[in-house]
Amino acid sequence: MQGTDVLISGGGLTGLTAALVLRHHGVPVTVVEKRSTTSPQPKARRFHVRSMEIFRELGLAGLVHEAARDLAGHDHMAQGRTLAEAEQLPLWLPAGAGGAAPDISPEPPCLIAQDTLEPVLRAAAVDAGATVRFDTELLGFDQDDEGVRAELLDRTDGSRHRVEARYLVAADGARSPVREALGIGRSGEGAIGGPNVNVYFHADLAATVRGREFNLCQLDHPDAPPGALASVDGRRRWLYMSQGGEPDRDWPAVLRTVLGVPAPDLDVLSVLPWQAEMLVADRYSVGRVHLAGDAAHVMPPFAASGANTGIADAHNLGWKLAAVLRGEAAPALLDSYGAERRPAGWFIAEQSARRMASFPNFGTAPDPTLAHPFVFAAGGFQHTEGALVSDPATADDPEPVTEFAPAGRVGTRVPHRWLDDARTRSTIDLAGPGWSVLAGPEAAAAPRTGGLPLHRHDVDFLPAGQCLLLRPDHIVAWRGTDPDAAAEVRDGLLRATAASTATV
Ligand SMILES: Cc1cc2nc3c(=O)[nH]c(=O)nc-3n(C[C@H](O)[C@H](O)[C@H](O)COP(=O)(O)OP(=O)(O)OC[C@H]3O[C@@H](n4cnc5c(N)ncnc54)[C@H](O)[C@@H]3O)c2cc1C
Repeated sequence: MQGTDVLISGGGLTGLTAALVLRHHGVPVTVVEKRSTTSPQPKARRFHVRSMEIFRELGLAGLVHEAARDLAGHDHMAQGRTLAEAEQLPLWLPAGAGGAAPDISPEPPCLIAQDTLEPVLRAAAVDAGATVRFDTELLGFDQDDEGVRAELLDRTDGSRHRVEARYLVAADGARSPVREALGIGRSGEGAIGGPNVNVYFHADLAATVRGREFNLCQLDHPDAPPGALASVDGRRRWLYMSQGGEPDRDWPAVLRTVLGVPAPDLDVLSVLPWQAEMLVADRYSVGRVHLAGDAAHVMPPFAASGANTGIADAHNLGWKLAAVLRGEAAPALLDSYGAERRPAGWFIAEQSARRMASFPNFGTAPDPTLAHPFVFAAGGFQHTEGALVSDPATADDPEPVTEFAPAGRVGTRVPHRWLDDARTRSTIDLAGPGWSVLAGPEAAAAPRTGGLPLHRHDVDFLPAGQCLLLRPDHIVAWRGTDPDAAAEVRDGLLRATAASTATV
């Protein structure tokens, strides 16, 4: 029987990112994916700055931006009766942005189709030493105190194999067979809105859109179902997302109507009916098995957060699995994965559902009571329970969601500030894959504090005399006044036997 430390079922975005994070921490990992290729559908196209920060830590941000070059500058929305008549809408910036994109991250967001991104991640995972087996289906598994044993089917020849692992990550999508096998239910609003159809097609429309490039173009033709045209590469690859659940239409005819041009080379590649849903798994972990990505949560795509949330799950789970596998942390650290990521998944899914309501007001500012878009973009959800030490001084000052005001609160991602004039190094770069301490310039100049790297910087969110303990996933675990106490706090968190927030 073959063995690995972590077996990942599902080689989509979440599974591949989990493999990359685990390899970043030096963990042996095997990914099995039942399909023979990465996603054939473009699906997600907007990757928020938080996902790009995670790719930055993994050394992949440059590769991802390079692979995304076709859609660089396609930030506008557009609207019209047909594509031929559509006009670009002014670039919408969230309130308070002051007319220019503020510096919220060391990485810009990235518009890249999922079917372009996944091969980049797959190749990077293989380069990083992960075993990645496509055409391989996880048929079943059992677990005990020692580990997980899984049965795999090699779909190329029908042969069956068994593999042993210390942990299993179920990144096997919305219908997650692993979640089903564990009997984990889901809660939430369920189906939202009516059925939709995504029509993926090729047509050379480069000349039609030149000078009016867009991310999404709302098309409202009286003789066609309403829908939005999404740029996949901005030239030949397009996705028409139609509201209305009739997959059996004459789609080439519908498309030519809404395009308003003959498009003689138009070729429909696939027609995918889908239903927006808001559902979150009732548990993220059972024993040695952990759910991540769509297996754990599904949400309407209108806040462009499904894939981004899966990437954040993988980042959170990866360092915890590594710490436990290295023997640095008690297995109970893994309880903090669900304690942190389930409320985050619920928050993002619920907000995505509410955002869907503002979708018909295409191109206008969304409901001001919704979470600020930068809160989504920068992973601004505050964990209040998990591998953290609550900060009594700021307990009455939670991270706001309707405005973007990161302040280095416990349970949030450390705010981004550039650390050099050349703008190459950010506070985000101070943690990962290890822990570190961020203190003000007045902190004692010892190079390390209790075995942790100490970074001394004058950053506006850190009052004089205070310091922050940063986890490997850039989350503030503790705020204190004595940098020398940080290592002890970290060790306490790693040894903690309960998922609830530690107190000191
Ligand atoms: C129309 C549309 C638009 C979207 N737009 C956005 C967007 O703009 N931004 C965003 O963030 N998200 C968006 N999403 C959501 C995003 O596509 C999903 O959240 C994302 O694909 C989830 O990734 P995943 O890896 O968790 O799951 P999946 O992509 O579903 O991958 C799961 C994988 O597991 C494999 N698998 C399943 N069972 C087994 C098994 N037994 N053995 C082996 N392999 C198995 C499957 O073959 C699949 O490849 C959109 C989705 C849709 C449908």
